[in-house]
Amino acid sequence: MSEPRSAEELEAILKDPGFCRYSTGHTAVVDWDAETGWSEPRVEPWSDLVMDPATLGLHYGQAVFEGLKAFRSADGSVHLFRPEDHGRRLARSAARLAMAEMPATLFSRACAALVAADQRWVPGGYGQSLYLRPLLIATEPDLGLRPSKSYRCVILAYPADPCFGAGFRPLSVTTSTETVRAVRGGTGESKCAGNYAAGLLTRTEAQAAGYDEVLWLDGLERSRIEELSTMNVFLVWRDGARARVTTPPCDGTIVRGLTRDSLLTLAEDRGLAVAQEHTTIDAVRTGLRSGELAEVFACGTAGVVVPVSRLGTGGEDMTVGDGGEGPMTALLRNSLLDVQHGRTPDTHGWLRTITWADENGGRGA
Ligand SMILES: *Cc1c(COP(=O)(O)O)cnc(C)c1O
Repeated sequence: MSEPRSAEELEAILKDPGFCRYSTGHTAVVDWDAETGWSEPRVEPWSDLVMDPATLGLHYGQAVFEGLKAFRSADGSVHLFRPEDHGRRLARSAARLAMAEMPATLFSRACAALVAADQRWVPGGYGQSLYLRPLLIATEPDLGLRPSKSYRCVILAYPADPCFGAGFRPLSVTTSTETVRAVRGGTGESKCAGNYAAGLLTRTEAQAAGYDEVLWLDGLERSRIEELSTMNVFLVWRDGARARVTTPPCDGTIVRGLTRDSLLTLAEDRGLAVAQEHTTIDAVRTGLRSGELAEVFACGTAGVVVPVSRLGTGGEDMTVGDGGEGPMTALLRNSLLDVQHGRTPDTHGWLRTITWADENGGRGA
């Protein structure tokens, strides 16, 4: 996990980075303790986290994370995509677990300091990025059940293709009648480590049955579709000659995806009919059968926008559309990537340009 020695080695990595295969060898670290509050961000060489085995975060799961990206524009400039919005979500995730809430501006500054230090690691290909993975974890050693009095935020960085590959290979998904991901009032909206552990068993079973992912249903009636394990879900309906784009609403059980939010905004900008509404799995099945449901796609920072081509549910295995990528899926993905790579104007203020000042933690020193 150390920096490559040569420019040639780096060039070879950036041509085919995969997803999280090579770290930049640096992290940004911000600490909090009850007495001194938040520290300034430090960019450090990658190193092990050393923890007492009685650390609260390890036993009781006070651990939350984020995932965000920096993109390169054609003119060579580098931009973080919606870093303060990711910071606000990290704070909300933390608040749900009674953890310290980092100010979004500090979070953004820490991310920018790391990207500034690792600028040469930001690939330039369309869809490529530097993927940042901030982790916030309780660090105080104690076995009494209570909120920790100290936390560490450590931000990792990896050059990346979209996580399902540069070709946006379609996904197959299946539903579960046994387990659920979230119920209202639980932690489903928080990007907390435990949510992903709780989904792993079912995800592994889905994969053994030949599917890539689980399409989670609501926790009470198990009738409405919610999201995948790491991505939100969209449906594209044929409505006469027009298309209608829908996605389940954020009412406490799904992660408030920033990709989801960006796509809703970009779709509205284009005058498309969009709605945040519940859809039952029965309606999905009926729609696929009649052809009224023309496209299904998943979206998230890591994977961007990925078509869903196959759905296994209730003993049936159904193909979505013709099993390839639909035109609306491609249109929305390209609309988003065009903003991220600076090809179309950033009318919503989503890009934070990395400047010389960021190399000093944004203090301009
Ligand atoms: C992170 C995540 C998403 C997507 O959020 P983005 O902000 O778009 O990356 C969706 N669902 C779950 C469960 C997630 O963890």
